[in-house]
Amino acid sequence: MLENKNYPYKFDETKCDTCEGNCCIGESGYIWITKEECIKLASLLKISVDELGTKYLFKAGYKFSIREKQISQNSYACVFFDLEKKQCGVYDARPSQCRTFPFWEYFKNNIEEVKEECPAIVD
Ligand code: SF4
Repeated sequence: MLENKNYPYKFDETKCDTCEGNCCIGESGYIWITKEECIKLASLLKISVDELGTKYLFKAGYKFSIREKQISQNSYACVFFDLEKKQCGVYDARPSQCRTFPFWEYFKNNIEEVKEECPAIVD
């Protein structure tokens, strides 16, 4: 069970098995990745950072985000989400944004939204 004293909920990771990847699938959005995280991810994928950037990232302002793939009319998945296994395909090198879910600043004021999205949220 993961807790963060600044949030009014806990995260029970054992419930991730009951979900089909709601935190990696949904409306289109940004999956921010830092330079250090790019190095780790490129190493996991056994490709260069340049190749990672060209194939899997896009630039938004001065930052980089992981690309998405469209899976239905209004639904997108992170390009690294394994749609068959319903899990992250680069779990050990996933960026901090993914590691810190569901303790995102945004959810502090949108608790019902995270509860609806994630079956692992517990009071
Ligand atoms: S990197 Fe992994 S955990 Fe992060 S959004 Fe993509 S599939 Fe999900």
